[in-house]
Amino acid sequence: MSIGNTTFHIQLQEGRLRGVMCTSLTPHLCNGCGIGRACRVQDTLSPVTTKTYNALAVLQTCHVIYFETIAILYSQNTFVVWQSDCIEFMPRLFLPQRIDSIRLLRFTWTYLGDPPLQADHNIKDRRVRFRNTLWTMVWRNISRMAGLQDLRVTLRVSGIHWSSLPPENAAATIEPIKNITGPKIFQLIVPDDIGAEKAPWTKLPCVIKTVPSATQYSNPQL
Ligand SMILES: [Zn+2]
Repeated sequence: MSIGNTTFHIQLQEGRLRGVMCTSLTPHLCNGCGIGRACRVQDTLSPVTTKTYNALAVLQTCHVIYFETIAILYSQNTFVVWQSDCIEFMPRLFLPQRIDSIRLLRFTWTYLGDPPLQADHNIKDRRVRFRNTLWTMVWRNISRMAGLQDLRVTLRVSGIHWSSLPPENAAATIEPIKNITGPKIFQLIVPDDIGAEKAPWTKLPCVIKTVPSATQYSNPQL
């Protein structure tokens, strides 16, 4: 039974949180084997899923072992998330001590549409307000993960408004990211056409890596 050094894909399925052990030969590059883009593959992963649950079931047979190892389970493994819901609703999905135990998180966020924030805060449009809330909530919840040491976020965005953001709007957009100061390693991967190589992006407390925007959606490892 493996407790540490394993990669788990965390996803919400029919309102329930699931952890699926990564089956990739290169788990450090895998952002979702058998999930999301290929739900049908989920069935073929069932033996692995069962194995995952068996590991947890063994833990649950003894409360002492459970409480001693559950912290290791959260602190010594890598969690990979591709649904922003898992981060947005994290405080409802995980116990606070579990959230604080997570040290390694890889999050791929496909953010469709225009940038979430505008310099004009008198926003009347309810949909834009909702997008603002989602954007700030996700970054805020990540910033509150007290034990996080290694954070890799891939932000998949596209659209002319991302690439032509005036500096003041870009500053407002990235403001919530500034609060993520805990992780020793914080890498933000963004498309190369949004101007992240210059201010205000360069003021963020992270290493920014750019990738060709055209490849962001076609290469599953980005
Ligand atoms: Zn995987």
